[in-house]
Amino acid sequence: MEDVDCVVVGAGVVGLATARALALAGREVLVLEADNAIGTGTSSRNSEVIHAGIYYPSDSLMAKLCVAGRHQLYRYCAERGLPHRNCGKLIVATSPEELEVLPGIAARAAANGVDDLRQISAEEAMDLEPALSATGALLSPSTGIIDSHALMTSLLGDAEDAGALIAFKAPVVAGRAVEAGVEIEIGGEEPAALRCRLLVNAAGHGAPGLARRIAGMPPEKVPQAYFAKGSYFSMTGRTPFSRLIYPVPVKGGLGIHLTLDLAGRARFGPDVEWVDGLRYEVDPARAESFYRGIRRYYPGLADGSLIPAYSGIRPKIVPPEVASQDFLIQGPPAHGVAGLVNLFGIESPGLTSCLAIGDHVRDTVRQG
Ligand SMILES: Cc1cc2nc3c(=O)[nH]c(=O)nc-3n(C[C@H](O)[C@H](O)[C@H](O)COP(=O)(O)OP(=O)(O)OC[C@H]3O[C@@H](n4cnc5c(N)ncnc54)[C@H](O)[C@@H]3O)c2cc1C
Repeated sequence: MEDVDCVVVGAGVVGLATARALALAGREVLVLEADNAIGTGTSSRNSEVIHAGIYYPSDSLMAKLCVAGRHQLYRYCAERGLPHRNCGKLIVATSPEELEVLPGIAARAAANGVDDLRQISAEEAMDLEPALSATGALLSPSTGIIDSHALMTSLLGDAEDAGALIAFKAPVVAGRAVEAGVEIEIGGEEPAALRCRLLVNAAGHGAPGLARRIAGMPPEKVPQAYFAKGSYFSMTGRTPFSRLIYPVPVKGGLGIHLTLDLAGRARFGPDVEWVDGLRYEVDPARAESFYRGIRRYYPGLADGSLIPAYSGIRPKIVPPEVASQDFLIQGPPAHGVAGLVNLFGIESPGLTSCLAIGDHVRDTVRQG
């Protein structure tokens, strides 16, 4: 059986950032991806927003890794000339009740180290964005957008430059904890077996299932996977907005917000729909609730202007009745299997946090 130092399962943005961090630390890295390209999972089905780090409980990994990751990501984009834009965002209250929620959001952001968030009046908000209807808003200057595919290509390039290899159509189907690490079985057209000192399970939606198929991994430590789908609709015509526009958050997501792509086109979403599997078609009938939600802050949205676009599915590890979840990054101290790191529940802000997650995994195994 062949030996490899580190295997990273999954070539999404988080797997690639982790492979890069390990390779730059001098480790031998092999990335195994079930699909035939990088980033075909959740990493290509999101809003492509660089989040500031506003909403997460201050002692959470999400708060820590989002704020650190955002700083790293802006620096990385600037160094590499990756397409991105620090366009800023408004969190918009549309009623007196919602206005009361804003100071709490601002306080949480400050506790997370987001030091540039500022509450502004309805007039100020509507001066900045004349198409807006608001009773007040929070302005987040450090929010931005990024070309996630350019990012992933660059992360892979760095990892390969540092010696990492990647294999496509290489699904990891099972594993077994052994003294020197983990033995894994690769399925697909060319089945193989490998032994690695470190296995990083960055399989996104597949992470809990894969962890359960690793003999020696305590099953009670593997969270149940849940799926919260988010559909997007794009808007025809020119958008009157130059910043991202978010309503105040709702249970399970951030509310139907307006994001911009780097070409300046607007899309709305994602909404929240708990589903029982990975089906990505967008139901045109959901447009009705989009119109209703969006017109609270953008009353000028014209009839017939929303077109079904795409959807993503949040890799949840808590059921719908639980209001929020954190990233669950499980190293050997958490589950007792030397040489295994599981990444569970890496939903938003996983894209923003990817570089910080990669460093966190690298440091976890350095200490372990
Ligand atoms: C609707 C939505 C909107 C979002 N918006 C944002 C945002 O604006 N900003 C932000 O920061 N974050 C956002 N996120 C979160 C972000 O997209 C994710 O955190 C991130 O993409 C997760 O990357 P990943 O590498 O963990 O998973 P994935 O991208 O899903 O990659 C996992 C990879 O593992 C592979 N795989 C699975 N099983 C196996 C196996 N057994 N063997 C080999 N390979 C396997 C898959 O094929 C896949 O390529 C959003 C998420 C959703 C769902």
